[in-house]
Amino acid sequence: MKKDMIKITFPDGAVKEFEKGISGIEIAQSISHKLAKEVVAVSINGEVWDATRPITNDAKLKLFKFDDAEGQDVFWHSSAHIMAEALEQLYPGIKLGIGPTVDNGFYYDVDLPEGASLTDSDFKRIEDKMLELSRQKNVFVRTEVSKAEALKTFTEKGDEYKLELINDLEDGTITFYKQGQFTDLCRGPHIPNTGIIKAVKIMSLAGAYWRGDEKNKQLTRVYGITFPKQKLLLEYLERLEEAKKRDHRKLGKELDLFHFSPKVGMGLPLWMPKGAQLRERLENFLKKVQKDFGYLPVITPHIGNKDLYVTSGHYAKYGADSFQPIHTPQENEEYLLKPMNCPHHCEIYNARPRSYKDLPIRFAEFGTVYRYEQSGELHGLTRVRGFTQDDAHIFCRPDQLKEEFLKVMDIVLYIFRVLKFEDFSTQISLRDKEDRSKYIGTDENWEKAEAAIVDAVKEKGIEAVVEYGEAAFYGPKLDFMVKDALGRKWQLGTIQVDYNLPERFELEYKGSDNKMHRPIMIHRAPFGSMERFVAVLIEHTAGKFPLWLTPEQVVILPLSEKYNEYAKKVSNLLENYDIRSFVDDRNEKVGKKIRDNELKRIPFLLIVGEKEQEEGKISVRKQGDGDKGVMEIEKFANMINEEIEKTLAFK
Ligand SMILES: [Zn+2]
Ligand SMILES: [Zn+2]
Repeated sequence: MKKDMIKITFPDGAVKEFEKGISGIEIAQSISHKLAKEVVAVSINGEVWDATRPITNDAKLKLFKFDDAEGQDVFWHSSAHIMAEALEQLYPGIKLGIGPTVDNGFYYDVDLPEGASLTDSDFKRIEDKMLELSRQKNVFVRTEVSKAEALKTFTEKGDEYKLELINDLEDGTITFYKQGQFTDLCRGPHIPNTGIIKAVKIMSLAGAYWRGDEKNKQLTRVYGITFPKQKLLLEYLERLEEAKKRDHRKLGKELDLFHFSPKVGMGLPLWMPKGAQLRERLENFLKKVQKDFGYLPVITPHIGNKDLYVTSGHYAKYGADSFQPIHTPQENEEYLLKPMNCPHHCEIYNARPRSYKDLPIRFAEFGTVYRYEQSGELHGLTRVRGFTQDDAHIFCRPDQLKEEFLKVMDIVLYIFRVLKFEDFSTQISLRDKEDRSKYIGTDENWEKAEAAIVDAVKEKGIEAVVEYGEAAFYGPKLDFMVKDALGRKWQLGTIQVDYNLPERFELEYKGSDNKMHRPIMIHRAPFGSMERFVAVLIEHTAGKFPLWLTPEQVVILPLSEKYNEYAKKVSNLLENYDIRSFVDDRNEKVGKKIRDNELKRIPFLLIVGEKEQEEGKISVRKQGDGDKGVMEIEKFANMINEEIEKTLAFK
């Protein structure tokens, strides 16, 4: 009896015995019926499996629902199969390429039969068919097949795309999955049955060359998304609508912040005056904190000798996919557009001898860098070819590493607090536990650095995910991911330890033992880049920037042109208090002016007429908060400045 049992270890450490061959879903069933209905996949010893696949050995088990990233991936991947099945029924003779998941949903690349076409008006038909198939509660059945068998199946079907894929696979590793009348070549895993898909939406169509090669035939890419509940689909569509409204490319134009000109070049943003001022305020905000934290400003050129990047290793790694070297009339003289600031900062460190007493040294620069991105990859301010990093490099001794990490984290957390990115998560990326050959630097230093990061995060009371094997070859790192107002995740802020560049640039300091030692380098950029950060901020705030940052804080609305003079005077007075205001003296009704300026997201509207002018006062309206009554100008100015001071206070 005992020999037919296996031990299953649950995530909380509990161990339970089950009969050999039991599946994840059956184990879920033994816990509760409700749970079993929600399980979409499992992981066995860290590998994601079908929840229906028999478990034959002792194993660590995790159950995934749709809410889990792994569960969602399996759910959407399985949905791609169902969409393919639906398309096959609606368009007999259709040939299928690949059908992977994407951030939101999935797609399938299909080759429509001769004479057939797909447009938006077909979406409903496909959705209905998919729902019909899901109601059949078809089970996904996994079979291992030989290569010969696999080739035979798809030769009979006449699907040359699948044949090409099979030809690239090794015999003995091939599996088919069948649900209903549909069989696909697939590694899996999949959901237990199609019945758990309750809501379906076909989103869009696109053209896509087979295998991304424009020499191949162009297939039709059909995008879709599915959910286990109708409510989730409706929420998703609402978020999508909201995201469109908040799109930084759209708001950037409306708020007159930045512009792209094909004449200047693709992916090269032009900052308009309002955008430039906003960016300057962000920079000054960070510069002030950095000054308090002992950072020293440096400035380096936009190009650098090619040899600099040969030394740093960037040329070998990225050279071929970068902007190509700039040549001069001089023979053999080659420069690169600066792809990163680090090598320049290393040379500043090297400019003079350094002692252990000088460390840590923190060089900061809003450094503009240029990286070639394919034109298809460019996207507003989030993917550009030229951008400015809020860069800094800290050179320190091993015993200072933890302290420096804590300080950088203080800056990052301060920024998140001030800009109301309240929902964030952190990831610590460490070395692979087994294979250590791919990392440079001594074991001793790595252990110190990894412990420093882990301790620093613990000391700050931050919960972090630890990922082994995710470190760069040159050092461990800590990444911050924020969730914006729509629940979308953005990577902002990274702190990275580097043993590589100090080695390559032969950085040294004289220790207390009078011997030469190598410093450790930390790269950090809390914003990431100004371009990307402003884009995220626009979408997070829907363009309603915080008071201290917004381009125009106050608009003054004279009730009639009789009061234009007084309105100007108010504006001048406010300027003395560093408050950014302007007078809307258009010949319009005040009601219209209020509406127009509220649309421009200006935080304060001041209305002035006869009474205000006589008393030397203003009537204050706050955006989204209505009438605040009549006030003295000085009192209003102090109120604004106090509010800003409170927001920016470093607690
Ligand atoms: Zn599949
Ligand atoms: Zn760097």
